[in-house]
This record gives sequence, C-alpha cells and structure tokens, in this order.
Amino acid sequence: MAKDLLDKHAILQRDKQSYAIVPHTPGGIVTPDELQRIVDVAKKYDIDTLKFTSAQRIAIVGLNEDDIDAAWLDLDMKPAAAIGKCVRSIKVCPGTNFCKRAQQDAVSLGLLIDEKYHGMELPSKFKIAVSGCMNSCSEPAVKDIGIMGTPRGFILMAGGNAGIRPRLGDVIAEGLNEDEVLVLVEKIINIYKGYAKRYRLGRLIDDMGLENFKKELGID
Ligand code: SF4
Repeated sequence: MAKDLLDKHAILQRDKQSYAIVPHTPGGIVTPDELQRIVDVAKKYDIDTLKFTSAQRIAIVGLNEDDIDAAWLDLDMKPAAAIGKCVRSIKVCPGTNFCKRAQQDAVSLGLLIDEKYHGMELPSKFKIAVSGCMNSCSEPAVKDIGIMGTPRGFILMAGGNAGIRPRLGDVIAEGLNEDEVLVLVEKIINIYKGYAKRYRLGRLIDDMGLENFKKELGID
C-alpha cells in the first residue's frame, strides 16, 4: 500500500497516488528567486495546485513519485519538517520588520529558533509561534511554545495546541528579553525530550503539574 515517502520528504495525497513536497521557508519568508523556483518546478512537473499551508509554507501538490527527486534538485531548497514527531513549523508574524502595531522583533527571534530547532526529533509533533504583539496573529496561545511580544518584553507560554484535544498554553514567564526566551525554550525542549509518552507538551505539563514544570525550569 502506498504511504508517505519519508526519505524523500514526500507526503502521500488523498488520491493515494501523488505526493506533496514542501520546501522549508523559515518564517514564511521567501526571496523572489525561491518563489520563482517553486513556480518553475510546478510548471515543469505539470502541477496545477500550490497550497499555502497554515505553517507559512507552500506545498507543491500532486507530484508523481518518479518526479520527486528531480523536483527537489530543481528547487535547491531544504525540505520542511512537515510530517513526523519533530519540531515542525516556527510560525512568525511580521513583527517590527513590517507591522506598525508590533512591539517586539518576532521575525529575528523566530528565525533564530527556526535555525536551532526546526526538524529536531521529539516525542510528538511540536509547534512554536512568535508574535510581535498581543494581537497574536501567529496564534502563540495554541502552540507547544508560544512567544508573544508586549511593550515590556516577551511573554512565553507552553503546552498549547489545537487538534483533537485543544489546549491553551500556560504562561510560564513574562517580561523576557530575547536571550531569556532562548534559554527557556532550550530548557523546555530538554525536559520534553525526556518525556516517555508520545503526547504533546501540554500533556507533560498536565502530568507534572504546572508548578512542578515551572520549578524544573527554575521559575518559582
Ligand atoms: S501579532 Fe501584532 S505585530 Fe504581529 S502581525 Fe499581528 S498585529 Fe502585527
């Protein structure tokens, strides 16, 4: 029976014949050249649909199995961690780079986090979001780690997720600068790596209790 081709970073589609591939576009930002290559690949392999995903990516949908390797070569882009138990997307709002409401630089922080953690294997899928203000356009409250800009630094939340058992993230710390956020993200991921169950981070926090989880992070 046909299935996802993990070694080719190709996701089997509903027709059980064709595949989607998803190039990595950190923060949902692409250069015109990268965007042009995606379009060129779609045209070369007779793709009639490109899907903008909720993870700020462009999925090339409907590839024949025989074309997957050549399509990746033509793209000359890294694959996104679009499936599997790992750090998936780091969703980033425009922040102070572009948005007039922003109070913090979501793009720089999000790209740093993406560089360090995208694709890292973990007990379950793991999503991160960074927003430049409390309007939360990247939806940090429903991400495993959500980072939200405020006039007084960042708020960090943990344990949020959407899906079949939705859960809002718990506020872990407030008034953080970028370095403090990065230290906490590292500590949270290290704790989660040791979780024996294959559930999302929110379950670990529920299992441990929020106060114990914060104590593990060195937060009273
Ligand atoms: S969360 Fe704030 S900074 Fe980010 S896009 Fe929305 S309004 Fe702009």
